[in-house]
Amino acid sequence: MYDRAKRHPEHIIEEWYLVGKIGLVLFVVAAIVIWWKGDVILAREHGCVFRDTVGFYCAGCGATRAFYHLMRGHLWQSFLCNPFVIYGIGVYVVFMINTFLYMHTEKIGFKKFPIVGLIYVGVGVLLGQWVIRNILFIGFGLTVL
Ligand SMILES: [Zn+2]
Repeated sequence: MYDRAKRHPEHIIEEWYLVGKIGLVLFVVAAIVIWWKGDVILAREHGCVFRDTVGFYCAGCGATRAFYHLMRGHLWQSFLCNPFVIYGIGVYVVFMINTFLYMHTEKIGFKKFPIVGLIYVGVGVLLGQWVIRNILFIGFGLTVL
């Protein structure tokens, strides 16, 4: 019987590392597209279906612009547009480098990288910025998007 609770942290890390390697392909494609055609994509953007329907931001609003600014090194603008993007990519890069090092050197890198905990923190960042963004927008009319 497959028991998730009895698995070792190293196995969980190896599974997420595999997910990360698959995700790397998507990340590279997205980075090339947004770096090459980002200006055209943002100029054509018709807005968010959720926001247009409901009248306030969804949790993903600003993510395309956040990615666009991050790929150009504008960290503060990226953070303002959607802080989940900079958090998620930061955790992803550190996790992938750490796991690569410990798998291939067995000397450098944390074997018990807290990836599951950091994913939960990421969900908190995503929901937290969503709530704060809408309080600022609805309550005070403040927005950067
Ligand atoms: Zn949205």
